[in-house]
Amino acid sequence: MVNGSQRMGIYICHCGGNIDNSLDTKKLHEAAAKLEKVGHVETVGFACSPETRAKMVADVKEHDLDRVLIVACSPKLYLKEFQQTLGTVDVKGCMVEMCNIREQCAWVHHDDIDAATVKAEDMLRMSHDRLMLQSPVEKANVSQVNKMRCTGCGICESVCNFNAIHISPDKDLGGSRKANVNVNACEGCGACVAACPTAALDQVCFSNMQIISQMETFLKNTRMDFPKIVVFSCHWCSYTAADVAGLKRMATDPHFMVIRTMCSARVDPEWVIKALSIGADGVLVLAGHPGRCHYEVGNLRTRKRMTLLHNYLEQVGFHPDRFQISYIDSEEVEAYVRTINEYIGKVRELGPNPVDPQTNVMPKRIEMPWLDIKPEKRWDEGLKL
Ligand code: SF4
Ligand code: SF4
Repeated sequence: MVNGSQRMGIYICHCGGNIDNSLDTKKLHEAAAKLEKVGHVETVGFACSPETRAKMVADVKEHDLDRVLIVACSPKLYLKEFQQTLGTVDVKGCMVEMCNIREQCAWVHHDDIDAATVKAEDMLRMSHDRLMLQSPVEKANVSQVNKMRCTGCGICESVCNFNAIHISPDKDLGGSRKANVNVNACEGCGACVAACPTAALDQVCFSNMQIISQMETFLKNTRMDFPKIVVFSCHWCSYTAADVAGLKRMATDPHFMVIRTMCSARVDPEWVIKALSIGADGVLVLAGHPGRCHYEVGNLRTRKRMTLLHNYLEQVGFHPDRFQISYIDSEEVEAYVRTINEYIGKVRELGPNPVDPQTNVMPKRIEMPWLDIKPEKRWDEGLKL
């Protein structure tokens, strides 16, 4: 449930020309002003300057804002500072969001202002959705259990690398065995959430609703032309590589949209099916190299899960190349850009995803057997077996 006053402040940063030389921030401002429950929109020279931060504090009080979206640079750079500043007027850290249109848009799509602007508008709408679905909780990223859905199977307990989940009898539920999360031990990888077969778990700040909503907002509203690729990117690995690619101004094909998770193990195979079923032409999951995971084993779980998914995709009618998993560490910046560009090229050759964009697959798994998708031409049709 989302609570709070639900009034958002949005600040669009020029970054002294670093952003507005490569995309049209006026259009962004207009798009922001049209979004739901926005109490204040402002375009600023430097969002991170002390003057702008002081203005944000004043605006929160004046406009009764309970959440703030800063459309600027990477959350890895200034998110903590913005959270500290806005914490002085009781805006909780999880209610402050950064939309990274500098490193991951303006600096890598500088050759095409129109394409960069279209993409930045999508990113803005997606970040707005994500933040609107956020509640003011004390601890971000931890997993939560819906005990009514939990069957006590223990899968989550077995995948948690931090001993943060325990199954025990619940006296309020007739002594049935249920999962319990120790939020102090939870590191926020999200591996358990994607593993739970009954969707009893969810992750604060990276909830299923927040991820699905970002996908829908992108795929149903974008003005991006073919191809449209969804890229799930790990905060510690490929997301960092993408930021450095921006820093190095490495031109990247703009036909992709990043959705960040803390670990690739949070990526639910259903998200891939969902993205393909609502019109993504391809889905790329980027994980760190097996054995080099911030959460130690998260990407090993991703590899297993995604290998199974790859086999399953054909059975439900998608060309297997509509999905790819690649392994990119934070320092593999060239490999990151090459992987993105090559995958977009591969999907271009494949052609548009023939699935009806109106086809809708609702999470979670119970709807899976009734996927209503039109089978694509078999990838091996015409081959001599
Ligand atoms: S995996 Fe899901 S259903 Fe199984 S014990 Fe954990 S929360 Fe409950
Ligand atoms: S999010 Fe990760 S660390 Fe937290 S309980 Fe789940 S598996 Fe364990």
